[in-house]
Amino acid sequence: MDRPLPSAPPQVRWLVRTLEDAGYDTWAVGGVVRDVLLGRPAGDWDFATRATPREVRKLFRRTVPIGVEHGTVGVLDRDGTMHEVTTFRRDVETDGRHAVVTFADTIEDDLARRDFTVNALAWHPLREELCDPFGGVDDLKNSVLRTVGTPEDRFREDYLRILRGLRFAGLLRLSIDEATWSALIGLAGHLENLSAERVRDELLKLLELDPEPSRALDLYATSGALAVLYPELDALRGDPSGVEGADRWGVSVATVARLPVGRPYLRLAALLRELDPPAVAGLLLRLRLSNAQVDETALRVGAPPLPGAGEDDLAFRRWMSATGPERLAALARLGLARARAEHDLGAPDRTGDVVASWRRARSVRASSPPLSVGELELDGRGLIGLGLKPGPDFGRILDALLDWVLEDPRRNRREALEERALSLAAQEPGDG
Ligand code: ATP
Ligand code: MG
Repeated sequence: MDRPLPSAPPQVRWLVRTLEDAGYDTWAVGGVVRDVLLGRPAGDWDFATRATPREVRKLFRRTVPIGVEHGTVGVLDRDGTMHEVTTFRRDVETDGRHAVVTFADTIEDDLARRDFTVNALAWHPLREELCDPFGGVDDLKNSVLRTVGTPEDRFREDYLRILRGLRFAGLLRLSIDEATWSALIGLAGHLENLSAERVRDELLKLLELDPEPSRALDLYATSGALAVLYPELDALRGDPSGVEGADRWGVSVATVARLPVGRPYLRLAALLRELDPPAVAGLLLRLRLSNAQVDETALRVGAPPLPGAGEDDLAFRRWMSATGPERLAALARLGLARARAEHDLGAPDRTGDVVASWRRARSVRASSPPLSVGELELDGRGLIGLGLKPGPDFGRILDALLDWVLEDPRRNRREALEERALSLAAQEPGDG
């Protein structure tokens, strides 16, 4: 930890120098300072400045008003990279969900409103000076997560900090300071006051960024946050029907951990895999995901497992027809992650089988068999051309034609389908 901070990239120095030359105190703040001190790759550089948004916009040629009402202006450097520059702020009023802020005069004021000591660090890239009024560097050295100020007050100001704390503790392998932890678990019940969007975005951020999400997810569970926000998932804890004595929550978490960062929705599907379909849909709607995301995630969660590699082509065509061939890669990744997770928990290694099944599915797909009604060489209009009366029976006939073509893709010829359609139409519904 005593490593000196590396010198900032030229664009960062340019940005700070421009503001400083105009007389405005300006610092790099937040996650980047923390991450650089930890020797982690630096993410986006964010800045806090004495200049008001209007003054920032006057100084730079290319700016974007990202959140001027919160004091944030995006400044584009000569490479087109955007940096967030936010005027020093102070909270005047908070209610657990929103804060009313006002502009402040000093970096110390600005750091005081931040959530955790490790996030309340500022670095001056020109003077190479660290501003650390709350002992964040010591906490990083000792791997401790601690709120700035009295934990209970800070969580009551914004309950999202509870979830942020769990995420940072997991991601950065920090242990949560005792007073911070007891305030956090004592107040977890208030998480239900947060907006669904903030809760969702926080979970997606965890799933998107954390290479080893088990720690943070288990902190959700042990803190009580899981029970408040995701009771369906909490109910899986202690249910011993997972593999090798692990509970079903444990299997879900291990599966998430076997999927890569950068695929938050795939990981979300893995997390929900043990829930029944109504519970999945209920949870996703509550999180206010878009309809398209709800549908896609529910389909991934509810999809039947890939057929075994030893099964015939028909089994693979039926499986792809039922799940949608475009979902093959995602479902195979989920299946593979699941097999790896079960193996991690002590079950026999099935990963070779899953990979073999995936290969078989890919080769069956490569021969482009028709897998949906839309790909049949006969459609509703064709049925009308045969003299059949449009009605609910059309759906039944087309589905039956698809089944017939799945059995043998060479049957997908117009004349053969017409003949078959006529004989299907002659049958009573439910005949076979
Ligand atoms: P990440 O790597 O997840 O982006 P970060 O620390 O940069 O981590 P951001 O959400 O980008 O997190 O926020 C930037 C900074 O703003 C934080 O480091 C913290 O100082 C402050 N901050 C963000 N959200 C809150 C909050 N709810 N309460 C107090 N301070 C906050
Ligand atoms: Mg950030």
